[in-house]
Amino acid sequence: MRTDLVVIGAGPAGVAASLAAAARGTRVALVDGATEAGGQFYRQPAAGLGAGRPQALHHRWRTWERLRDGLAASAVQVLTDHHVWCVERGSGGFVVHALLGPEQEEPAEVHARAVLLATGGYEQVLPFPGWTLPGVVTAGGAQAMLKGGLVVPGRRAVVAGTGPLLLPVATGLATAGVEIAALVESAGPARLARHGPALAGKLPEGAGYAARLLRHRVPFLARHTVVRAHGDERLTGVTVAALDSGGRVRPGTERHLPCDTLAVGHGMLPHTDLAEGLGCGLDGLAVAVDAEQRTHVPGVWAAGEATGIGGAALALAEGHIAGCSAAASLHGTAPDPAPAALKARTKLRRSAVALEAAYAPPAHWPEQVTDDTVVCRCEEVTAGAVRDALDLGAGDVRTVKLLTRAGMGWCQGRMCGGAVAGLAGCPPAPARRPFARPVPLGVLARQHPQEGQS
Ligand SMILES: Cc1cc2nc3c(=O)[nH]c(=O)nc-3n(C[C@H](O)[C@H](O)[C@H](O)COP(=O)(O)OP(=O)(O)OC[C@H]3O[C@@H](n4cnc5c(N)ncnc54)[C@H](O)[C@@H]3O)c2cc1C
Repeated sequence: MRTDLVVIGAGPAGVAASLAAAARGTRVALVDGATEAGGQFYRQPAAGLGAGRPQALHHRWRTWERLRDGLAASAVQVLTDHHVWCVERGSGGFVVHALLGPEQEEPAEVHARAVLLATGGYEQVLPFPGWTLPGVVTAGGAQAMLKGGLVVPGRRAVVAGTGPLLLPVATGLATAGVEIAALVESAGPARLARHGPALAGKLPEGAGYAARLLRHRVPFLARHTVVRAHGDERLTGVTVAALDSGGRVRPGTERHLPCDTLAVGHGMLPHTDLAEGLGCGLDGLAVAVDAEQRTHVPGVWAAGEATGIGGAALALAEGHIAGCSAAASLHGTAPDPAPAALKARTKLRRSAVALEAAYAPPAHWPEQVTDDTVVCRCEEVTAGAVRDALDLGAGDVRTVKLLTRAGMGWCQGRMCGGAVAGLAGCPPAPARRPFARPVPLGVLARQHPQEGQS
């Protein structure tokens, strides 16, 4: 299929971008691996579940209705179930390579003059003893089960880690009837207060969550962390402990909380694989963009959490600005984003920087990771093996990977990259993966049949 602009990712950023570009006369294809548009924030229940009131699990539902109805009324071609593994620069534009459906074996191509990357982010989870037990899920994973599958992961849960995502997860699970044994947040209120002015705009949202947590009588343990998950066949409880001001566990403060579910997350990281494959520059761990959301590669825009973690409202503003810029570039006109979107982006980016500084995993988390704790789940590499590699002289994540295989498995280091870097005492670095998804060899062979014959 051929189009003017292909938008990859149908979350808030991608939908806002598609609507803005289509409204300005651009032919748009909106591609996503999921079965429905909505992304993480507006994840929709599977159609077969017949959800009567999906809005009960969401906030800002009216915004979603506006986006959903806008898409239905527009000429945007929505291509769901398309898992993009690579975007290539070709003559006169770009080729998006995708795999179709849940099997991800059949290839599909979309040819476009311009590309807009709105691939969002993914959760970071740092290891601790017992974190691989059945019953331990990521915080976003618990939220995805609830919003997408209308199921809860257990009856009594601890929600733990750090970051603003823990609040909707705890309130969402409590609303669905799960008893929340505790919300365990490693950041303390003093850190949030330090960034008060930049976070002022987030106060109503925070107050709303606080009221819901109070209503459900959820105990809130600030400046605490989970030091161990317990159980043989599956999770039966966790040990939590208080942290000192330097981020170390305070001895003697440990206490046991019985639970069958631990929903844990330590913040989010941007998806940059497709952007890096295209040669786009990075700003830290996120795709670098200019004021119009243009990347360093002509014809490629990026918006939403791929360009930095900042929440759905920021993703919407950035998507709109990017869509306007892409449309203007394709039509040779001047971009005309709504002034409200520009203002919102400025304000929300300031809040995002403050939130990142306020919420951080405990500084000394590697001290709690015992040698027998699995760090890389795909290749079953323990913290002890990583430490042995360091003793052998490995000074960076890449050398640890070569000596231990940590990060060489199915997820290509998405889950363990931060953990290995933390254990090695290195700053987290971009992983540079040539493909964003595993690709069957047959699909690769079909791409270049003449080479296969020679
Ligand atoms: C699991 C999870 C749950 C979350 N739940 C909440 C919540 O309940 N409340 C909240 O405030 N915030 C939540 N967040 C944070 C949320 O991601 C953002 O605030 C918001 O959704 C960001 O919007 P976005 O458009 O940038 O990206 P997203 O909403 O993440 O959308 C990105 C889209 O890109 C698609 N995509 C990515 N890579 C590819 C590819 N290679 N091929 C095809 N499609 C691709 C994804 O399927 C996704 O639909 C959650 C995050 C995660 C990871």
